[in-house]
Amino acid sequence: MSVDADVIVVGGGVVGSCVAGFLAEAGKGVLVVDDGHIGGSNANAGSLHVQMQSRFMQLYPQNVPGMERQLPLYPKAVRFWQAFEKKLGADFELKKNGGLMVAESEEQLAFLHVKAARERKLGLEVEVLDRAELDRIAPYLGPSIVGAELCRDEGKLNPLRCNAAIRRWLMALGVRLREGEAVRTITRDKGGFRIGTARGATLRAGTLVLATAAGTAALAGQLGVHIPARAEPLHMNITEATAPMIGHLVQHADRMITLKQFSTGQIVIGGGWPAALVGERGHPTVLLDSLLANAALARQIAPRIAPLRIIRTWAGINTSVDGKGVLGPVHAVPGLHVAIPGDAGYTLGPFSARMVAEMVLSRDPGEDMSDYTPMRFAGATVQAI
Ligand SMILES: Cc1cc2nc3c(=O)[nH]c(=O)nc-3n(C[C@H](O)[C@H](O)[C@H](O)COP(=O)(O)OP(=O)(O)OC[C@H]3O[C@@H](n4cnc5c(N)ncnc54)[C@H](O)[C@@H]3O)c2cc1C
Repeated sequence: MSVDADVIVVGGGVVGSCVAGFLAEAGKGVLVVDDGHIGGSNANAGSLHVQMQSRFMQLYPQNVPGMERQLPLYPKAVRFWQAFEKKLGADFELKKNGGLMVAESEEQLAFLHVKAARERKLGLEVEVLDRAELDRIAPYLGPSIVGAELCRDEGKLNPLRCNAAIRRWLMALGVRLREGEAVRTITRDKGGFRIGTARGATLRAGTLVLATAAGTAALAGQLGVHIPARAEPLHMNITEATAPMIGHLVQHADRMITLKQFSTGQIVIGGGWPAALVGERGHPTVLLDSLLANAALARQIAPRIAPLRIIRTWAGINTSVDGKGVLGPVHAVPGLHVAIPGDAGYTLGPFSARMVAEMVLSRDPGEDMSDYTPMRFAGATVQAI
């Protein structure tokens, strides 16, 4: 079977789906191919991040300069989600109630003061609150908390609702979806691309967008392009529902946690505890140690959630590159574009997708994209095409 399209988007997560939607709105015939594996968009915690996450700063200190350069995009990305919710006429359960990064020691509080000062210089609106101020706005916090950084632009949404609404949007636009179908081979073909799938289909298009997260390294590599995207399997938990008590997105200055309450009343507990990739397909799999440590830390931060039962745990695959998105054309391979959003990639997803779609259409993406170019990696093209 041979199928043609103007644009093939490989990867049907939030980024690939949104790139496809924006291109279809511009009149392009778009085909999305996704292998149906568990990625980030169908496993994430729904945190809308703006302030720098201490987790990334500790794990990847070498990436901090890149994260700082991308920081101004985050509040814009949150506003983009708000506008996108209106545009799709959907209910994403999006709440911008602010985010707290809590400290349990004077040392951690000092770190937050330094971090907040730096972030203010980079244009974020953040402040550091003491315990008395926290008691007024976050009485659910436990006795060990001595202060917190507040970023009012942070929030939360329900990814299940978002993904369903985005899918309805694609269907209404006539975007063709090939799901549960892995792309195995990519070759250049008469000024375009020829794609071979695991189901034996051959797909052709003049423009190819790789929105394949950690899978991008292998696919781009077939075209001689080096994109150092790595899989990072992570753990998540959700509790049974309870009365509303936690309005904020809660994180920790020194330990891995995100904590929030959905509109359903359920508490979502994540924050980057590791999971494992198991078997030939690398299925993301829960680790008991992560479950226990993540839940214990959540209880320490918000003791009122202690009686709640965790009703589901799961794992997904995040993608790590160098702290910044990889967005835009690969000039050495005409027609090839990459769309990897950067850290907290669900927050950045639709906004990043919009910028990539504009570049595919040869229009102004509205931001200086030089920091995000796929060509920035040393030896980005390892062989002449
Ligand atoms: C547990 C967890 C919690 C997270 N929590 C948050 C959060 O609260 N807030 C936030 O902002 N971000 C969060 N993230 C990060 C966020 O989910 C991701 O950065 C974001 O969803 C990435 O979107 P994407 O479309 O680029 O990639 P993905 O959603 O991973 O989609 C890429 C798709 O490409 C497919 N693919 C790859 N290779 C091929 C191939 N060869 N052929 C066909 N298809 C292929 C994959 O299977 C996948 O479906 C979290 C991530 C995880 C794992």
